[in-house]
Amino acid sequence: MTVGTPVKLIVGNWKMNGLTPALEEAHALGQMIEAEPVKARVGLCPPATLIAQMAWKLRGSAVELGGQDCHDKDSGAFTGSVSAPMLADAGARLVILGHSERREGFGETDADVAAKVEAALRAGLEPIICVGESLETREAGDAVAFVTGQVRASLPDSLKDRAFAVAYEPIWAIGTGLTPTLEQIGEVHAAIRAALVERLGDGGRQAPILYGGSMKPDNAADILAVADVGGGLVGGASLKAADFIRILKAA
Ligand code: PEP
Repeated sequence: MTVGTPVKLIVGNWKMNGLTPALEEAHALGQMIEAEPVKARVGLCPPATLIAQMAWKLRGSAVELGGQDCHDKDSGAFTGSVSAPMLADAGARLVILGHSERREGFGETDADVAAKVEAALRAGLEPIICVGESLETREAGDAVAFVTGQVRASLPDSLKDRAFAVAYEPIWAIGTGLTPTLEQIGEVHAAIRAALVERLGDGGRQAPILYGGSMKPDNAADILAVADVGGGLVGGASLKAADFIRILKAA
């Protein structure tokens, strides 16, 4: 790393995986990082049920915790939902919003995502806003237009001067073992950067743009070296400390 190179943000997304014994993986990760610090800023987003216990397990560690979604209201009659203040209260600093599994499986729109981003900011959380195209959209040659459209519509004005990240996650790369070429990743990240600057002015220049979708120990170094790739959002390979640490060391 040279002087002035921004620190990469690498975040694990455990999705709906993890019961109490999985806390030991988080603990092991914390210990590995303590024994041999990594250059990256590290986040872990377990299921909401584990955040408070994980915060206790990782007290004093550099690993930051996050939620995987939040409601756009702070409290109220919304059975089954978790609010941004609840995540913060449990020990989260980050929250993943607009993941394609939420957009596709729960019908979340760009406007829903923008409202959740506002809620996260009110609670002092740093949102990680996910965007990404389907295989059909990529094959039609519309990936850049689609993704930048999502960026424009999912980011509220209130993000100006606030800490946040965007994660580019092509839907067809998530959990499939497929990844775009480095050129394709670079093209989309450059377009996202331009959209962020157009949307938020100077505030759009600093936000890390993470890549997500089958990032593994073997491809992480190449992907993280692409211009404007500010880190990674890692699903399957973040579940085991032994795999995740190899990705963190690639930064
Ligand atoms: C994700 O779902 O955010 C993700 C990147 O998953 P995977 O790494 O397993 O493709």
